[in-house]
Amino acid sequence: MKAVLDHVGIAVTDLSAALAFFRDSLGLEIEAPEEVASQRVRAHFIPVGESKLELLEATAPDSAIARYTDKRGPGLHHITLRVDDIGAALAQLKRRGARLVDETPRPGAEHGLVAFIHPSSAHGVLVELKQNTVDAFAARGVGAVSRYTLGNFELVSLFDGFLRLDGGAMFGVVPKALWARQTPADEKNRILLAMRPLIVRGARTMIIDAGLGDKHDRKFLEIYGVDRKRNLDHTLAEAGLTREDIDIVLATHLHFDHAGGFTVRGADGRVRPAFPRAQYVARRGEWEDARNANERNRASYLAEDYEPLAAAGVLQLVDDDQTIMPGVRVRRTGGHTMHHQLVMIESGGQTAAFAADLIPTTAHVAEPWIMGYDLYPMDTLAAKKAFYADTMAKNTLVFFEHDPAVAAGYIREEQGRRRVDPARPAV
Ligand SMILES: [Zn+2]
Ligand SMILES: [Zn+2]
Repeated sequence: MKAVLDHVGIAVTDLSAALAFFRDSLGLEIEAPEEVASQRVRAHFIPVGESKLELLEATAPDSAIARYTDKRGPGLHHITLRVDDIGAALAQLKRRGARLVDETPRPGAEHGLVAFIHPSSAHGVLVELKQNTVDAFAARGVGAVSRYTLGNFELVSLFDGFLRLDGGAMFGVVPKALWARQTPADEKNRILLAMRPLIVRGARTMIIDAGLGDKHDRKFLEIYGVDRKRNLDHTLAEAGLTREDIDIVLATHLHFDHAGGFTVRGADGRVRPAFPRAQYVARRGEWEDARNANERNRASYLAEDYEPLAAAGVLQLVDDDQTIMPGVRVRRTGGHTMHHQLVMIESGGQTAAFAADLIPTTAHVAEPWIMGYDLYPMDTLAAKKAFYADTMAKNTLVFFEHDPAVAAGYIREEQGRRRVDPARPAV
């Protein structure tokens, strides 16, 4: 196990006295405080090289930090070691008989997973293990481009960063006790989701959806917990592509996490198409619904993602299921929105499907695991059943646009239950 000292936690009783020492006498810089409501503490981080000091201030008398300082006064509280695989670290500790405060990791600050080891097993020191989930995904190749060959096509799964949406809204009627086991929620009950547009490269080059883009203000980015440190610009370049190379931009639907990257704001403040040579294709019904949004779906549509396309004369609206380029067809699913469509790709007797928000993550593979966001959930259910019958018969490679860890896989059935067999990329 490789571990890095992440931070040292120091319990304080008098914050202004602590600041007088660490900030004024030592001259260290203190980051903006972070409130950890569930622990009833306020954390003030002080960067010291690769690691940090963490001043912990209780915000309520029943906080663990208050109980600690009542008993022992202020002082060293815990050390935090960052590991690559917290699950493996806990399993190893358990095998060796260590006493654990947390048997399974729980969500911590900064997209992390944490677990505490009891001081009685650690020579009197409270040890926190931490895994940065974004790092962990990066270590497993998530956020990197993954390439697949399908007949004459090259399919390249790109990445436009992470966002966080309410776990309850993401799983509809499924109780949290069930979904939280698969997908841990953060302090605000949000789960981590990726945005993964897909490149289809044949005689022409198509991109299906384009992620969130970068036109949003700080408040928006905070609400949705956006992390685009790695985004479409990086992954397009890694795929050996520029925006000029894209001939066709195909929309599954016009929600901001799919269509945000369709446009960019220029230095002059004007919003224009992000792919300068491309023809954009969207479904007419979806376009009309986006422009006539109602109280229920209004928050999902941002006019600057798609109105500038029409103004620039690059938007083509299609009415029915049809071939967009040879081997690539759109198929309406309804459900999520009335005109939500998925994309079927076929070449050399092989098939792939870009499922978009019909099955946003591998956790949604069970039929009733349907998003609360869906406007017509019974239509989603019917569309999923039809999709499974078709994809399992053809051994279709299915792309999961929002899954944080799995870009693509095959849907299998085992004892009446669905699961996903992740696909190995070609490179
Ligand atoms: Zn959507
Ligand atoms: Zn979505």
